[in-house]
Amino acid sequence: MSQIIRFDCGTIHPTGLHVQANTYVIVFETNHGMVMIDSGYGIQDFMHPNLVTRFFTSFVHTPRDPVYCAINQLPKFNVDPHDVKHIILTHMHIDHAGGIADFPWAKIHVWEQELLSALHHRGKLGIGYNTSQWKNHDLWQTYNMTNCEWFGLPAVQLAEFSPEIFLIPTPGHTPGHCMVAFRSENKWILQTGSAGYPFYEQDENRQVNAPDWFKFWLMGNHIPRLKKLWLEQNQEIEFLSSHEFRKAEKID
Ligand SMILES: [Zn+2]
Repeated sequence: MSQIIRFDCGTIHPTGLHVQANTYVIVFETNHGMVMIDSGYGIQDFMHPNLVTRFFTSFVHTPRDPVYCAINQLPKFNVDPHDVKHIILTHMHIDHAGGIADFPWAKIHVWEQELLSALHHRGKLGIGYNTSQWKNHDLWQTYNMTNCEWFGLPAVQLAEFSPEIFLIPTPGHTPGHCMVAFRSENKWILQTGSAGYPFYEQDENRQVNAPDWFKFWLMGNHIPRLKKLWLEQNQEIEFLSSHEFRKAEKID
């Protein structure tokens, strides 16, 4: 496999909080073209933000500049955006699904429950979705049943991809949130999305000290088994997170 590209589509630095984070997108090569995990914000999100996008990006100080959109960053890594044939979503919140609009030729892979939740978004749990980002997209592949295990976790393997790619349902952050695992040359890569906590055991000083109830509310109840997996398999698996929340180097 050629290189695995990971880039930030939106820095996060909430005013007054001692926290910083990013909005990561991952791109890698497969036998079916380039695959992108999550898509960040799209150009329209920044050019014509709706109320939720305007409020959220202002609150967390994410710059609304199209230069950070995946479609504009890929050429920096010598990737033609038209070579991105598949987008796999951890979930469909605005900061993960907005880029779909910029890749109308790509097939979107998502857990069915997540698509349904995003389509029928209601109340406070639905506030993070914006159907106008993707409602006109034509190519979808949804999944609703696990058919195997990945390191003991119920998973579904995406058919016919090499390297192997797995969706691992981890509801909590959203009803259909999934982690995405794929094989690199010498390790498994696990994108925990918004279900996992960044694992900085090697650097306690960077850990964000959030109360357990808050982590549960934000990410679901996956941290204990992810931590166990990390302790047992961190030589085999590289753990990544969509946002990598950590202590800020400075407070604005
Ligand atoms: Zn989210």
